[in-house]
Amino acid sequence: MRSLTYVEPGVIAWQDAPEPVLAQEHAALVRPLAVARCDLDPIQGAFGIFPGPFPVGHETVAEVTALGSDVAGLHVGDLVLVPFQVSCGGCGACREGRFGGCQTYPARAGAAFGFGAAGGGHGGAMSDLLLVPHAQHMLVPAPRSIPAAALATLPDNVVDGYRTVGRHLAERPGSDVLVVGGAAASIGLYAVACAVALGAGSVRYIDSDDERLAVAARLGAQAIRHDGDWPPSFDRAGIVIENTGTAQGLECAVRSTDAYGYLTSVAIHFTPAALPLLQMYTRGITFHTSRADSRAYLPEVLALLEAGRLDPLAVPTHVVDWDGADEAWLEPGIKLVLSRPPA
Ligand SMILES: [Zn+2]
Ligand SMILES: [Zn+2]
Repeated sequence: MRSLTYVEPGVIAWQDAPEPVLAQEHAALVRPLAVARCDLDPIQGAFGIFPGPFPVGHETVAEVTALGSDVAGLHVGDLVLVPFQVSCGGCGACREGRFGGCQTYPARAGAAFGFGAAGGGHGGAMSDLLLVPHAQHMLVPAPRSIPAAALATLPDNVVDGYRTVGRHLAERPGSDVLVVGGAAASIGLYAVACAVALGAGSVRYIDSDDERLAVAARLGAQAIRHDGDWPPSFDRAGIVIENTGTAQGLECAVRSTDAYGYLTSVAIHFTPAALPLLQMYTRGITFHTSRADSRAYLPEVLALLEAGRLDPLAVPTHVVDWDGADEAWLEPGIKLVLSRPPA
C-alpha cells in the first residue's frame, strides 16, 4: 500500500509500505477517506520534532474494511471517526475516561497514529489502510450527512478547541472567553467557533495575523489585532485559551484570567516557562495543558455538528485530492484536508 511519509526535515513523500494485518480479535482495518492536517504537522514536517521516516496523519474519518471477531456493533462499510490517540478502553485510566493516558499503550510522545516510534509505532492515517486496535472502544460511528472534510477535522484540532471551553461553559453558562495568540492556527479558531456555538458571553480573539483575525470576526468574535511583545495582561475573562507558545504570552494569559477562571494552554511550549504562581494562587486559577483527549470528547463535538450548531468548515479549509498530498502537506494555510472518494 501507499503511505504519505515524513522522511526528513522538509521532505514528505509517498512511499510503499506493507499492508497492516488484522491479527487481533479486537482490532479493525479502516480505509481513511479524508485526513485533516493537524496544526502540529507542518511544524513536524519542516523541523522534524520526531525522527523519521514514519507515515503521517492522525485526524481521519474512514470506512471500516475488516473487523476482528470480537468487535461488536460495527460493520464493514461503516463510516467512523478515528481518535488520534490509541487507547484500550479497559485499563484503569481508560475505565475512568482518561483515554489519552491509556496504560496499555505507553509511548514517549503519547500513543497516537502518525508520529512513528515516538507515538508507539502505530500507522499513519495518510495510508490506504490503518490498523485500529480495540476498535469497538476506539471507533466512533459518523453520519454520512456531514461532509467528510468536516468530519476529518474533529479527532484532534476541533476536539482541542472544544475542550478549552465546552465543559467550562456547561458549568458556567455565559462566561466570557478570551483567546490569546494564533500559534496553533486552526485550534484557536475552532475554540472561537465552539465558544460562540455554546453561548459564551463575549468572545475575544487576539492575534497578529489579519487572515485569522478576519475568520475569528466572521465566526462571531471580537477580533483584536496585537503585534509585538505581549502586554502584562488583557481585560480578564473567566475562560482563557493561551495560544502563543511563548513564556511572555503564557504569563499574559495567566494575568488575563479571572478569579476562579479556567486557563487552557493549547500552544506547545518546547522550553520551560515561569508562571506567576502568586497571582494564580490568589485568584484561584485552574491551569490545564495537555493533548486533547480525542476519544473522550469526540461524541460531544459530533453531537454539536449533528445538531447544526457547529460547522468546522466555517474555518477556511483547503480540500486537496488525496494524490496531491505530497505537494500540499507543507504548504501554508489554516487548515488542509486530503480527501478521496469511497472505494
Ligand atoms: Zn494533532
Ligand atoms: Zn487503556
